Amino acid sequence: MQNQLALEFPSTTETSYTIRLSKRAKRLSIYLHNSGKVEIVAPHRASQKRIQTFIHEHKSWIEKNKIKLSEKSQFKDRSTRPDTISLVFLNKVWRVVYKPSAKKLIEHEDWIELPSEKSDTECVKLIAKWLKKKAEDFITPLMQSLSEETLLKYRKLTFRGQKTRWGSCSPNGSINLNYCLLFLSEDYVRYVLIHELCHLQELNHSRAFWSLVKSFEPKYKRLDKKLNDYWVNLPAWLDLRFEKAKGDQELVILNV
Ligand SMILES: [Zn+2]
Repeated sequence: MQNQLALEFPSTTETSYTIRLSKRAKRLSIYLHNSGKVEIVAPHRASQKRIQTFIHEHKSWIEKNKIKLSEKSQFKDRSTRPDTISLVFLNKVWRVVYKPSAKKLIEHEDWIELPSEKSDTECVKLIAKWLKKKAEDFITPLMQSLSEETLLKYRKLTFRGQKTRWGSCSPNGSINLNYCLLFLSEDYVRYVLIHELCHLQELNHSRAFWSLVKSFEPKYKRLDKKLNDYWVNLPAWLDLRFEKAKGDQELVILNV
């Protein structure tokens, strides 16, 4: 069980401290958050005087490291924030504009607006949601027509953003596709779809499977080989999808 209370700390600096009284804590610790919040965790029986003395003693250390941390995260933000999004499959490029007035992702003809107030991680999470919707809207019709063409019927189609797979097929006839396919050209997307459709009949990579693939896509070998290289071509900012949102992260710096 942990308690949280805000301590009115008579301070000459602008930093405000959040004091968390913890039953598990055995000593005083400082947590610097990426959001700039400074949290002091103290054993729940620690006196106010002890906490104040502790803060007083570590004040210059806190200020110095707060600046260091904010410089680091600002640099990271700048290097990862996307200015454009290019979806090769749709043959389309959007500019990305970060606006203070924006509350969510809004798509316009050739640009997207995103809230500048949100962290880059949060913005990329919004973009990921938008990508998923785009994949549902534009890859699904291709899947339907390929299913009719190959006479291979799937039960359900879903889109996700896995880190290492373009697609997968389960024994119950569900196919899952990676929405990052939108960053590839149509011949590769078409190949991935055919590959997964063929797994409906052959749930393995046997000779029978590959000859079925070949009957629908004679160039399958070249496409399959090159697909593995395409992971590195995905925009680096996409990785932010997997990060915790800013402010969730805690960095333990000091134990006393
Ligand atoms: Zn496969």
